[in-house]
Amino acid sequence: MTSGPAFRRLLNPGPVALSDRVREAQLGPDLCHREVEFRDLFTEVRSGLLGVYPQAAGYQAIVLTGSGTAAVEAMVSSLVPRTGRALVVANGIYGERIASMLMASGRAHKVVRSRWTEPLPLAAVERALDRDPGLTHALAVHHETTTGRLNDIGALAERCRARGVVLLLDVVSSFGGEAIGFADWEMAACAGTANKCLHGVPGLSFVLVRSEILTAGATGATSLYLDLYRHAEAQAGGYPLFTPAVQATYALREALAELAEAGGWTARRAHYRELSGALRGGLQAQGVELLLDDEAASGATLTAFVLPGSLAFEEVAAGLKEKGFIIYPGQQSLREQIFRVAIMGALERADVDEFLEAFADVAGALAASRRDE
Ligand SMILES: *Cc1c(COP(=O)(O)O)cnc(C)c1O
Repeated sequence: MTSGPAFRRLLNPGPVALSDRVREAQLGPDLCHREVEFRDLFTEVRSGLLGVYPQAAGYQAIVLTGSGTAAVEAMVSSLVPRTGRALVVANGIYGERIASMLMASGRAHKVVRSRWTEPLPLAAVERALDRDPGLTHALAVHHETTTGRLNDIGALAERCRARGVVLLLDVVSSFGGEAIGFADWEMAACAGTANKCLHGVPGLSFVLVRSEILTAGATGATSLYLDLYRHAEAQAGGYPLFTPAVQATYALREALAELAEAGGWTARRAHYRELSGALRGGLQAQGVELLLDDEAASGATLTAFVLPGSLAFEEVAAGLKEKGFIIYPGQQSLREQIFRVAIMGALERADVDEFLEAFADVAGALAASRRDE
């Protein structure tokens, strides 16, 4: 990757470090989004998104301008009908955010939770579905970025299928970097973003929706701007509904081409795994522990580490920033307890090795200054 005077390596879970190629793609010619040139670019990006997972053939990609949250909210507030009743299955911040969206859009819903360090509460899901046959939809997060856990969506999908419950997923931090069961999970839709595992720039997000749902055309959306049915109708004609992030569209086209050339999502996951493995092993060798003891459950794209007892996040992060690395704190109850390091974006093994050295220096200096006090 490139370096420069103000260059920092982003190890936060999006926005990610850009390749030169993606960064430069933003400098394409000015375009009006109502001209055929934009239609062609937009169409290429929409089909490129579907092409990331060849099993997604029965889906359509609806591209929105906005961050990942916009896509999740468009999905939630358009596809859960006003007369529906949703079950949120949550083990982290992003699961809770889905519940807040249902609340904001006035949808009847129920939340089953497990502790953030635990897997999805599948037994509670079964109980809820048994007790409340009126539940029509289930919503969950695939990769829960709060902890780096890759949730067992296959097991949740099985329970939904058995009871005819429609499944909607947040795949914002897994799309492009993990396996997504388009053929097996039978979800009605999933929402993702351009600037996590796809390595695009912030500004675009998307919902992949099963085509038959869109042609059913029943719009019960409680938002005009985020009405997926309206967007789908406009995009079926090749154009976006409102002014899109044109430069981010150029960048996403380039990022999708780069992903395909590098061997697609499986190659990207293998690369992330190699880097995450080196990162985990290297920090463990320095005495830092993983938050999730069930290591098999953690995804390739982000790792939560327990902050060593004597260190505060702010001082570790500040020391690393001086050396050019950005890490990420824990959220809410995990704020004082952990730090997170994401492997997403244009990163190479050398970045991880240099990060490990930087971490050893920073932690060592902080420990020495404690001894001197
Ligand atoms: C990053 C993220 C989001 C959306 O975040 P934005 O800041 O809106 O892009 C949603 N869900 C998950 C799981 C995420 O990691």
